[in-house]
Amino acid sequence: MMPCDQDREMLAAYLDGEVQAEEGNALERHLSTCSTCTAEVASMLSVRRTMRTARTRFTPSVEFRRKIQSQTAPRKPGFKAFGGLSLAIAALAMLVFVMFWMRQGAVRADAYREVADLHVGDLASANPYDVVSSDRHTVKPWFQGRIPFSFNLPEFAGTEFTLLGGRLVYLHQQPSAQVVVGMGQHKISVLIMQDDGVFGSAFPVSERADARNAFNIETWNSQGLRFFVIGDAEKTGVRHLAQILQNANQ
Ligand SMILES: [Zn+2]
Repeated sequence: MMPCDQDREMLAAYLDGEVQAEEGNALERHLSTCSTCTAEVASMLSVRRTMRTARTRFTPSVEFRRKIQSQTAPRKPGFKAFGGLSLAIAALAMLVFVMFWMRQGAVRADAYREVADLHVGDLASANPYDVVSSDRHTVKPWFQGRIPFSFNLPEFAGTEFTLLGGRLVYLHQQPSAQVVVGMGQHKISVLIMQDDGVFGSAFPVSERADARNAFNIETWNSQGLRFFVIGDAEKTGVRHLAQILQNANQ
């Protein structure tokens, strides 16, 4: 076969009847002399014939066509709207979560501030205690009738802690107990309130140590009571006092 540089797409167009008359005549003249293009056109015609035959032989069922159409057809507007709706719901859920998280963060910040203020107020007061005693058997009964709950005070003898006194305070508008414990030169406040589910829920359920404004804080919930231990003593000291109190109030 002679090599030929005739455009193959032109041959296909010719077979499809998509060429101008002059081009078609020229191609026919060329085909009568070129074995390469004649073979090419014969091959193309053979393929087309096969495809045409197959098309007439194979008639796809209605179900098959519907299936193919559903897979290849562009998505219906309803489907698109549903996608947008679920996106909007996801965004809304995220917003609610963020707002809840921010709200919890704000409540927690308020709680810490209130607890810290009570502790600082005690340190600054000339008469910091309503009941001045190092005897837990004096301090604990003093709270009876003044607060709507009871709690246990541990024995501090043999520990690094000294009971200094107690006073009635209002924490989150609730009558609460403040017990002050000395540790060396430091004073540590123990604040006990009924967990109202708002103030307390701002904190993690499990006990947790945190440091705010130079104070170390431990807080936990036990038997419907919320405990705070706060002071400028080192973290391990605050933690140890919290453990003693937890053991006494289980
Ligand atoms: Zn040719």
